[in-house]
Amino acid sequence: MEYAEIVLNRPMRQSYHYRVPERLRPALCPGKRVLISFGKKNDAEGYCVGLVDKVNFPPEKIKDIIGVLDKEPLLTPVMLALTRQVAEHYCCSWGEVIQATVPSGVRRTVSEKTIKVVKLLMPLENVKAFVFEHRGKKKDKQARVLRVLAEEIQGDITPFELSSICAVSRGVINKLRSDGHVEYEERVVEKDLFEAPAEKESHLELNEEQQAALDHTLRAVHSGSFSVTLLQGVTGSGKTEVYLQAIEEVISSGKQAIVMVPEISLTPQMVQRFRARFDGVAVLHSRQTEAQRREQWNGIRDGKATVVIGPRSAVFAPVPALGLLVIDEEHENSFKQDSSPRYNGRDVAIMRGKLENAVVLLGSATPSLESFINCRTGKFDRVLLTKRVAERPMPPVHIVDMNLELEGAKYWNFLSRPLTVRMKETLERDEQVLLFLNRRGFSTQVRCPRCRHQLGCNQCDTLMTYYQVRHLAVCLHCRQEMVPPELCPSCGVGRMRYLGIGTEKIEEEVKRQFPEFPVARMDSDTMRGHDAYEKQFAKFREGKTRILVGTQMISKGLDMPNVTLVGVISADTSLNLGDFRAFERTFQLVAQVAGRAGRGTKPGQVVVQTFSPEHHAITMAAEHDFERFAAKESEDRKALLSPPFSRSMRIIFSGLHEKEVEDFSEKVGENLRKIAPDAVTFLGPAPCLLSKVRNMYRFHMMGFAPKVGMIRYLASSLDPVLGRKRKVEVALDVDPVNMF
Ligand code: ADP
Ligand code: ZN
Repeated sequence: MEYAEIVLNRPMRQSYHYRVPERLRPALCPGKRVLISFGKKNDAEGYCVGLVDKVNFPPEKIKDIIGVLDKEPLLTPVMLALTRQVAEHYCCSWGEVIQATVPSGVRRTVSEKTIKVVKLLMPLENVKAFVFEHRGKKKDKQARVLRVLAEEIQGDITPFELSSICAVSRGVINKLRSDGHVEYEERVVEKDLFEAPAEKESHLELNEEQQAALDHTLRAVHSGSFSVTLLQGVTGSGKTEVYLQAIEEVISSGKQAIVMVPEISLTPQMVQRFRARFDGVAVLHSRQTEAQRREQWNGIRDGKATVVIGPRSAVFAPVPALGLLVIDEEHENSFKQDSSPRYNGRDVAIMRGKLENAVVLLGSATPSLESFINCRTGKFDRVLLTKRVAERPMPPVHIVDMNLELEGAKYWNFLSRPLTVRMKETLERDEQVLLFLNRRGFSTQVRCPRCRHQLGCNQCDTLMTYYQVRHLAVCLHCRQEMVPPELCPSCGVGRMRYLGIGTEKIEEEVKRQFPEFPVARMDSDTMRGHDAYEKQFAKFREGKTRILVGTQMISKGLDMPNVTLVGVISADTSLNLGDFRAFERTFQLVAQVAGRAGRGTKPGQVVVQTFSPEHHAITMAAEHDFERFAAKESEDRKALLSPPFSRSMRIIFSGLHEKEVEDFSEKVGENLRKIAPDAVTFLGPAPCLLSKVRNMYRFHMMGFAPKVGMIRYLASSLDPVLGRKRKVEVALDVDPVNMF
């Protein structure tokens, strides 16, 4: 074959043809990277996706490939086909999808056996002085990095992790290093690849429902053809045991399984459950170093792994003979990637299952409406686990009307009386408590009582979150921080007050009211450094911590028999989001958190605090009634032709000048409306809920179409403007879940 088809890791959707010089022909095959000259660059990297005999252009215009970069192809033919489908579905570039499937550690040719970690050289006193001197000035970002390093990081942290926590570029850390404020130390990478504990557990005796679910799955596996099954089982019904036994069968037939879980439920406890059953369990996660990820990836490709566990990117794990794909908590938003390529790992799993004739098993206590409807129309099979294992009851849920708590109270108490009474009883019985709130920090608002001015970020359209322990106001989007002013910066008279509650404030209030019981907090502020999560978790498990306060991080995966009380501090945070999935999210959140209670032999209970005690999303979650909720929600969505009764796309425009962004979005919007079939409806363009981030103004528009083909047609009209570096950048999100 004389010519190669090449795609690049850039937003452009077309592919390019290059001639393969005679000398390179033996070395080149699809799935390898090549060196080409592209535009002004003489060393661009591209992926060879095909070889052809003929091209449509005059041959003299075609350039030669300069070199072949890989000895072994990075992608098998199946993975090439999959990445191509993903690119077509999400209307993004094939090269970008390929790039996302191959870890950067694999693409690199250098081998690193050690990693670098950042060490602070400055004494704490000097850090404080540096921060005091430079905050809000030119060295603001350096000050922030030093402060975070001094105060918030325990243990080792890589420059990459540090820069992402502080939201600064690597350059800032490099500058601190060249100024002698920090240094890098080398650490030898520990290889825990596929490590298995010595002792294996045998499997549990399944109950009737579990057995029926397993039988169904095994019939599908043995048939050797593609199918999708939704395993809908209430929290604590033993879904994981069904996965484990299905996987056991897949392994014994010589094939492999991939298990996808939301990143936050990828806990040591979760991994342990698999490693106690099988040898060769590979784990992929974002905290691994490049070298670790490469080792895992190579091992998986060579067929050494029997099971691969990981977050959404695990869907691309290069197992040679895929038998089963499990997607646990299939309704989770975190399966959708928020940057290009914006794929949904669950939906890509289904594409992959089809390509490889594998079985896809979706598990959830609160399935997405999409999957619910797919079962109704017969696209998916559905099996139910209606009861918890060992006949354990579902925990009763008490809804507390916070309006009543406000009445006659001298001050607003966010721990209601019904909750504190139950906390006391639970703790006195030597049992444990989980308190859940989806907001970080101490206060979510810094506000002037006189003129009502609220402290906002000057780069983003957000309010600053107050952290009391560090006495800092922080923007959770750009990580800018400042010492909050005592007097209102707007009217100059009012004394700023701290309003709105976050997890830090709850922790403090719990300490005040229950001083004799140890409390810990788990959220992305406290869970920094490598093993913070593992340590905190172990302490809770051993009972050294009695009350655990946290965000989503504690809403899943925890299987702790001694937790008998779960408190949802506010069920309202997601209710008023103005997104068509707001009720669904609220239902899922309440049902999932409630599911953490009473998983052992001791009965559990749940307290849900809300200002909307009558809202159906909350009452139906309290009754653990998914069927009724899904039926009602389907009717409402159907009436509005919202997904899953339509396909949707979101176009996001951003730029430095508000007027330019607005004008451009209107121009694009007008054009789309002109070319769209009648059946398509649009919303916007309008400012995004987050209308400004890091000085970039943001507008968006939504399109809803009865057929996915229409979305593709509209998307292709955007090709000329997508992803280009221009004054207004345009991004496209097909099947969006994030509407901010
Ligand atoms: P889910 O994933 O549905 O929330 P899990 O799989 O975590 O539920 O199971 C809940 C608990 O019940 C776990 O501790 C698990 O070991 C236990 N379990 C599961 N199946 C059985 C069974 N058949 N017999 C006894 N215990 C079981
Ligand atoms: Zn900001």
